[in-house]
Amino acid sequence: MKKINESCLFCSIVSEEIPSQKIYSDDSIYAFYDINPVAKTHILVIPKEHLIKLSDLKNYEILGQMINTASQLAKKLKISSSGYRLVINQGNDAGQEIEHLHCHLIGGNKLSSLK
Ligand code: AMP
Ligand code: ZN
Repeated sequence: MKKINESCLFCSIVSEEIPSQKIYSDDSIYAFYDINPVAKTHILVIPKEHLIKLSDLKNYEILGQMINTASQLAKKLKISSSGYRLVINQGNDAGQEIEHLHCHLIGGNKLSSLK
């Protein structure tokens, strides 16, 4: 049984108590469309386990699974060759709102430069 946090929005999405537009699920990963998209395609790829942030990881296996899922979804949605961006916000300065690790998969149109 995965560790979940009952007061966590994303844990409630994983357990499907709160509905989401799910696009992928396996034993350890869940992916769904962001409710407030910043691009034509905006998906959140999350671990099913309640891990709060990147710096809490004891090893990086789950991160590999998250990035692999994002890459496979980008191919499936045919935005891989046009390009996309993966973003993980860590903590306050980055504006991490939800304290459950998540990777944003953003693409489907030209994105603004980070520079
Ligand atoms: P972050 O700022 O990196 O913590 O990103 C949190 C993301 O979660 C934001 O892009 C929100 O739009 C998104 N979000 C918040 N609530 C929901 C929800 N119920 N379903 C889907 N996405 C959500
Ligand atoms: Zn959680």
